[in-house]
Amino acid sequence: MTEAEAQKAIVSRPDAKSQNLTHYFTGKECKYGHVSLRLVSTRQCCECSKEYLKNNYEHLSAYKKQHKIQNAEKYKLSDKLNYEKNRDVRLEKMRAYAKNNKAIIFQNIVKRKASKKQRTPPWLTQEHKHMMVAVYKLSINKSECTGIEHHVDHIVPLSGKTVSGLHVPWNLQVLEASENRKKKNVVWPDMWERIENVN
Ligand SMILES: [Zn+2]
Repeated sequence: MTEAEAQKAIVSRPDAKSQNLTHYFTGKECKYGHVSLRLVSTRQCCECSKEYLKNNYEHLSAYKKQHKIQNAEKYKLSDKLNYEKNRDVRLEKMRAYAKNNKAIIFQNIVKRKASKKQRTPPWLTQEHKHMMVAVYKLSINKSECTGIEHHVDHIVPLSGKTVSGLHVPWNLQVLEASENRKKKNVVWPDMWERIENVN
């Protein structure tokens, strides 16, 4: 049934409830004049909800942001549980993708290696190199200990649009994979401000 068809079919709230549906439809106007589906759980009109979300977007997103800060531990725990729950599915997907996209993956590895090599200054000392290996080890340890996937990130990207960073110890940091993904959508130098705003 399409949404338009569902809109036409009258389903009372008790009927919807007995069929485990999330929405019901009376065919009558809500007090704001919408003829729309309603939520079984709260009797809320869907059009009203949509309007409320639209009109209060800024207020709601500020609230959400604040809620995330105040409940950081809870969010972290739920991220961790989700990560573990979806582990097998994710691995299976990755395997399937790798199998069907060998050429692309190979090309990306070569490209990344080349850009690391190209952005590694010749004056790096042996000690610098040890420091870098330590950062990569730290990222693996953090992933294993917390159950949250961590990546090594170049603070200033190696192939940024406005500037290119170096493959040096002080340009490396360990980030949660989700943070790293957020970073990909913004461009240096204002990305830190943007990332802080996202949190
Ligand atoms: Zn309404």
